[in-house]
Amino acid sequence: MLKIAGKSVSKGTALGPVVVWKQQVRNVEKKTADSQAETARLKRAQEQAEVQLQMLCHRAEREMGKASASIFEAHLMILQDEEYLGTIGHIIRTEKVNAEYAVWTVGERFSRMFADMDDDYMKARSADIRDISSRLVENLMGGESRRPDLTEPSVLVAEDLSPSETMQMDRGKVLAFVTVHGSAASHTAILARMMGIPALTGVPVDLEGLHEGMTAVVDGDQGQVIFDPSEEVREWAKAKIQTEREKKRLLQKLKGKESITLDGKRISLCANIAHMSHMEAALENDAEGVGLFRSEFLYMDRQDFPTEEEQFQVYRQAAQAMDGKKVIIRTLDMGADKQADYFKLEKEENPAMGYRGIRICLKQTDIFKTQLRALLRAAVYGNLSIMYPMIISVEEVRKIQELVQEVQKELEDNQIPCRLPEQGIMIETPAAVMVSDELAELVDFFSIGTNDLTQYTLAVDRQNGKLEDFYQPHHKAILRMIQMVVENAHKRGIWVGICGELAADLELTEVFLRMGVDELSTAPSMILKVREVVRELNLSGIL
Ligand code: PEP
Ligand code: MG
Repeated sequence: MLKIAGKSVSKGTALGPVVVWKQQVRNVEKKTADSQAETARLKRAQEQAEVQLQMLCHRAEREMGKASASIFEAHLMILQDEEYLGTIGHIIRTEKVNAEYAVWTVGERFSRMFADMDDDYMKARSADIRDISSRLVENLMGGESRRPDLTEPSVLVAEDLSPSETMQMDRGKVLAFVTVHGSAASHTAILARMMGIPALTGVPVDLEGLHEGMTAVVDGDQGQVIFDPSEEVREWAKAKIQTEREKKRLLQKLKGKESITLDGKRISLCANIAHMSHMEAALENDAEGVGLFRSEFLYMDRQDFPTEEEQFQVYRQAAQAMDGKKVIIRTLDMGADKQADYFKLEKEENPAMGYRGIRICLKQTDIFKTQLRALLRAAVYGNLSIMYPMIISVEEVRKIQELVQEVQKELEDNQIPCRLPEQGIMIETPAAVMVSDELAELVDFFSIGTNDLTQYTLAVDRQNGKLEDFYQPHHKAILRMIQMVVENAHKRGIWVGICGELAADLELTEVFLRMGVDELSTAPSMILKVREVVRELNLSGIL
């Protein structure tokens, strides 16, 4: 038995045969070659890769939604990136070498450069560069299948998995992923979570030491993998898998049921999503709406701002998918941990307290107005609401309202169909809490962002793993603030929800109901669990 700890990036338990997936290590030889002929070969390989990626893109979109497809769209962009291709071409011409050698050299150089970056997100892009380079090399050398061949449901163990490899796997046959490298921010981890497959990264296992016929237990809750488990561990895993299945099955019974306490107090249970592909999970888990659509993810993993049309399509699809149920789109909350190069945000000493969220929108109004136009247009197609993040003052809300009016007028003047939907703000700064009485006069609803509210109230950086002990969302100060916000909202006749992680904290469900919170918005997988708790509560104590 060999037990190895790693980082859990997707929860759950799995037990099955191990399949070791070794990326094809192509022996790329350096040869002297004619530059013109090699440039033409490179061009053909690139065209072939484009076709392959477009096919992958369609498959990803069909099976897992737009967000997954965007991973391959990003690969297509790398494939057309001038710096990447230019460097390959330069090596072919100046060193007079074969195309595969030039591709391999540049791929290694670029991916190492990304891997050495401090930022986890950029680090994770290293795998994308490697992926695209090995695709080109394979096309140049006469490609073979890049798909791990799984004949039965298996635990897949690899040095690393590229998004393409992950995407091309037969989902019915992968019980879990275990990788030596990779990070929680990698696309592979994102895909694992979307697929609902337990996954561990950063597992220091020697792949050479694993052999065919071996079994493994992946414990995505404890973050460990056990190779060659003892009979006892196998039995434990089987029982845990059974319990997980049973829990899921029982929770399914709550689908279509009301989120109401035994004594008749209702609460709305909605889903937090970041991509259109999460909508499926939201619907599958019977979300009563989308309480938070983190729209900034639309702006990430790309080279330039999404156009008004692109955004309009996503927001319209979201509204239509929910078929009359409410979809709250939060406007761009970029900055701090959420970055995109093309925003050209300066490095800051205190990014969480820096140029982020609504501040960017109010300073760079062209970006904001593009999003508002898309939102007002999409609102025609369903029950869409808009929510503004990181608010600290009444003045900000007034300024937003002016911009919204401008946008509405422009659209109407141009006879573009639009609708002014319900608008609310996030309460996630202590300042917003303290002036929530005045803010409530200006908006249609509040949604409390307990993640940031905790960080700003307790002065604890939510990104800093070392401060985990100090990050206490149950702190009295936070609970009192929530209570205060609810009271101020209700006094002015507006509803109030919670969309931070605390909304899914089952220990607090009763507290929130007693406070009068109207809506809880959580990860889709938590909705039925919260509903279960709600339905067992009796707040009156009479029944
Ligand atoms: C929050 O701060 O609680 C919140 C929901 O927003 P985010 O986690 O996206 O900052
Ligand atoms: Mg926040």
